[in-house]
Formats: sequence, C-alpha cells, structure tokens
Amino acid sequence: MENCIFCKIIKGEIPSVKLYENDEMIIIKDVAPQAPVHYLMIPKVHFKTIDEMNKEQSEILGRCFYTLGGLKEKLGLENGYRLIMNQGADACQTVPHLHVHILAGKKMEEKMC
Ligand code: AMP
Repeated sequence: MENCIFCKIIKGEIPSVKLYENDEMIIIKDVAPQAPVHYLMIPKVHFKTIDEMNKEQSEILGRCFYTLGGLKEKLGLENGYRLIMNQGADACQTVPHLHVHILAGKKMEEKMC
C-alpha cells in the first residue's frame, strides 16, 4: 500500500531497527517503547485487521506466530512476553497494517483480561 508506514519500512524506504526478517514478516523495535522490550511483528502482506484478512493471509499470520515461538531466546523473551494486537478504532489502532506488539523485559503490572 502506497502510504502505509509499515509497507515503507518493509521496503526499506523508512529506517527501522530490524531484529528478524524472513519472506513473510519482519520484527522491528517499536519507535515509542511501552516496555523495556517492545517489538512489532509485522507480516509483509498488507491488511488491516483479522476480520479483513483472507484465508491465505491467515495462514501467513499463523506461520508468523510459529516463527515467533522459535525466536524466544534470540529476542530475549525467556521470562515471558505479552502479545497485543490492536484491531480498529476502539482499540486505538494507529497503523492500519496488521501487526503484533511484543512486550517484555519487566513484570507486567496490569492485566486487562
Ligand atoms: P498501533 O497503535 O497498535 O497501531 O501500533 C502502532 C505502533 O507503531 C505504535 O506502537 C508506534 O509507536 C509504532 N510505530 C509507528 N511508526 C513507527 C516506526 N517508524 N518505526 C517503529 N515503530 C513505529
């Protein structure tokens, strides 16, 4: 997508701190971290939310999660981590390209559910 900031990061048009990349996704540092470790797992294919994804995109997302599970040590997530996916306006999604927040590096104080 032309004006999507994450598509531009994926294409290398906007700089990012990249921790991992394969054919289907990247993991970068969030520019405004909310925890000592705050990464974003971003599928390369552009879609906004899980209710907008098609079957092929859902399979890609499944493989992204599987890959993430194998990166625990490399990413320093051994003590646990929180995954957050903001979906749409009420969830305050600001970038309309599906992404997964990976938060870690401290004992989380609040649980929302
Ligand atoms: P969300 O509000 O769930 O859509 O999350 C978007 C996230 O993208 C926020 O945590 C931002 O800090 C992060 N973000 C926005 N622009 C960049 C960027 N250029 N590089 C890294 N993270 C970014």
